[in-house]
Amino acid sequence: MEWAGQREVVLQACWARQVWTNTLKTDCGKTIAVEFAGWPNRGPGPDFSQARLRLDGREYQGPVEIHLSEGDWFHHGHDRDSAYGGVILHVVLQRTPGKPALNAQGAEIPVLCAGEFMDPFYRPWMAEAEELLRRREALPGRCGVEALKGDTEGLVRVWRRAAEARAQNKAQRLAMGTPKEDGQKLFEEIFRSLGYREYAQPFVELAKQFPLESLWGPLKLPYMKAREEILARWFGWMGFLAVEPEGGDPALLEEFRLLRSRWQGLNMPLRTGDPVPGGGRPWNAPERRLVAMFHHVYQLGQENYLKGWLKRLRDIDPLRNKENLKNNALEALEEVFSTPRWEGWRRRVSFRLPPLGREADLVGVERLATVAANGVIPVFLAMARRDGDRELESLLYRLFHVLPPEGANRKTKFMAERLMIKPTTYRSLSGHQGLIQLHDDFCGAFLQGCAGCALPAMISQAGTVSSSSHE
Ligand code: SF4
Repeated sequence: MEWAGQREVVLQACWARQVWTNTLKTDCGKTIAVEFAGWPNRGPGPDFSQARLRLDGREYQGPVEIHLSEGDWFHHGHDRDSAYGGVILHVVLQRTPGKPALNAQGAEIPVLCAGEFMDPFYRPWMAEAEELLRRREALPGRCGVEALKGDTEGLVRVWRRAAEARAQNKAQRLAMGTPKEDGQKLFEEIFRSLGYREYAQPFVELAKQFPLESLWGPLKLPYMKAREEILARWFGWMGFLAVEPEGGDPALLEEFRLLRSRWQGLNMPLRTGDPVPGGGRPWNAPERRLVAMFHHVYQLGQENYLKGWLKRLRDIDPLRNKENLKNNALEALEEVFSTPRWEGWRRRVSFRLPPLGREADLVGVERLATVAANGVIPVFLAMARRDGDRELESLLYRLFHVLPPEGANRKTKFMAERLMIKPTTYRSLSGHQGLIQLHDDFCGAFLQGCAGCALPAMISQAGTVSSSSHE
């Protein structure tokens, strides 16, 4: 059947509007009852998120992916992308011969051959399918509508509580044993934060393989010698010294040979487990992160890593006004992650790729925010609460509220749409973290969707409390 030029967006619009001629059935005969079609997603990842369906009465919640041809699942590489591992329904115009798409558990993803159910009566609005999806994507949630009713105080209170709960939960997860273990925990969490999603786990493994204590010896050496000793261990174990680069920059080759020769002399095993994924932005290459981490540890390791961090935090004057406190804290963070100008990796990506056209800091401001949100603040918060250090605890909360946010992500963008708030209103680390927490606690947890979600009532209650407390 020729169907509005058979554009994928048309099929997506049909799914969003749920316009079908008959009761839907999967290709294997299960009845599909759609309770919520999901939120349209034009960014990376499946086409609809958080859909709710019943297949022969059994409830499923998760993403739905739409394709004209079933084989597009493989052509688009979804079989190799973990973001698609949770897809609960594959909607296609028609089936194509070949292997079926599997979910993360290795089970076949149910397929809806939508072509059989599409209704030509809806052709006129198909010309505007993109516009329809765009409008639907920007629809507010019931929470956003509630927030609009009163002043914004209710929302701000709930949002702030969510942010602080997130920081406390992280601190609780990191609750440490003895003060002796604090430095190692901080070391691991900073390594994790520098690793992005892709390298976070390998970097934590690396921090455990070469614990901070094992680096004291090398850290006492002169700068360049310490650099060679530590980078040889880290690069070698990660497998970055396995294959000699061909041609290219002679300085890079010389460094490769120096580190590899030292690594071979150490006679240590290579990392096992899943290979470290490649790709991504060159500025975020794992090699650059490791070099940044070396300079960071060397700088603070001279005076005891944990104490060095504590000293910098205590040097931040908590009595400054918001803007000055933010600048003061950012300067402290930039200083502990500064890289000497002579460091060649300011222009490099890896041993195999040519140098970049310009040099840049190895850790940018957005990544510093991530390091603060996921490493420094939760680790020191856990310590402060364990040791009853109120002064440090209060400083950390203040920093949390003034430091700039990490870059927007899928969850923050999604929640901002639902709550109808502009990016300018969440320009702090806590604003960003609060949106993620609201997403996880409500949109991501309320299987009934907007109709059964508790957030709108919480916003309205918090608004009432705040306005009555002002009277
Ligand atoms: S599920 Fe809750 S938090 Fe999500 S958009 Fe609906 S009302 Fe808002």
